[in-house]
Amino acid sequence: MSDVNRQWQLAARPSGFPKETDFVLAEGALPEPGDGQFVVKAEFWSVDPYMRGRMNDEVSYSPPVALGGVMVGSAVGRVVASKHPDYAVGDTVCGGVGWQEYGLTTGGGFEKVDENRAPLSAFLGVLGMPGLTAYFGFLDICEPKEGDTVFVSGAAGAVGALVGQLGKIRGCRVVGSAGTDEKCHHLIEECGYDAAFNYKTDPDFLAIILELCPDGIDCYFDNVGGAMTDAVLMSINDYARLSICGQISQYNLEKPAEGPRLFRQLLIHQAKMEGFLVVRWLDRLEEGRRQMSQWVQEGKIKYREDVVEGFANMPKAFIRMLRGENKGKQVVKA
Ligand code: NAP
Repeated sequence: MSDVNRQWQLAARPSGFPKETDFVLAEGALPEPGDGQFVVKAEFWSVDPYMRGRMNDEVSYSPPVALGGVMVGSAVGRVVASKHPDYAVGDTVCGGVGWQEYGLTTGGGFEKVDENRAPLSAFLGVLGMPGLTAYFGFLDICEPKEGDTVFVSGAAGAVGALVGQLGKIRGCRVVGSAGTDEKCHHLIEECGYDAAFNYKTDPDFLAIILELCPDGIDCYFDNVGGAMTDAVLMSINDYARLSICGQISQYNLEKPAEGPRLFRQLLIHQAKMEGFLVVRWLDRLEEGRRQMSQWVQEGKIKYREDVVEGFANMPKAFIRMLRGENKGKQVVKA
């Protein structure tokens, strides 16, 4: 075990797209557990879009990271020291370690994970927060029925690629948008999407959506917001269900975008639009994980991970994910 704890701290609040210099690598002391605490050595870290919001000094559903504070985030790793009655040295756990090599905790927000069930990194992806976001945010809010047309924006990401596969399991026609031809090909060939388009090379979103969803959209799972969601609103069927999971096209804007005001579409189609945070289903996480795990084992759900090697590359991994360079769930390996 090393005698320092390397940490990525927030050095500056970005305006617009974040830069590597918004973070600084610092060395802290190795934490020692007090009574009721344990220390986790991270093996894989997650980088997620929500972290961009934590860099802003603004009120959201969680407080911002302080300047000079350690960036927030989840990791999977091993307990290396413990004075906690429920956690022993060697246990594999997942929780909010933050962007640092060792996390000290009383266990709040941590859970044990079984590496016999899946590789550790899967607990940051298909069997972790993104997988459960897809499972509950799609199935509970969109309530997909056989024969429905499902449209997923940000379809090739950690969450989106799973949502489409859940739609296929429910017997729906599934269409998605993603930022490269390779991602669209992957969605159709590997994830069972019926159609997908590259929103960067096909910028008339409404025209392509009408072409690929000739019967209109019954369920929308929104990862991106902005102009894509405007086009979807113009394509919905009566009693459509729209699940607002993320708005990544807006996260790096310096000024809020002005858009068409399309809520009349909800009115005339008697549609439902609902935002959610995955923590809503905290009491049902094990149900979701068990079901996702079974579908993975049965080959009904496929997933891919994009692994960046080395803790020193955390900011690089975060920025490449925001740029769309990730193919599947972006994680960092120690
Ligand atoms: P991800 O999709 O694996 O990675 C982010 C992707 O966003 C990139 O790969 C990129 O793919 C796309 N993107 C970046 N800028 C974009 C833009 N301007 N317009 C359209 N797409 C853009 O990340 P994820 O973890 O699965 O998260 C997906 C969404 O779900 C995010 O909005 C996130 O905030 C949200 N989320 C919400 C919850 C919740 O509880 N509500 C939980 C988890 C995630 P392309 O190549 O396709 O551009």
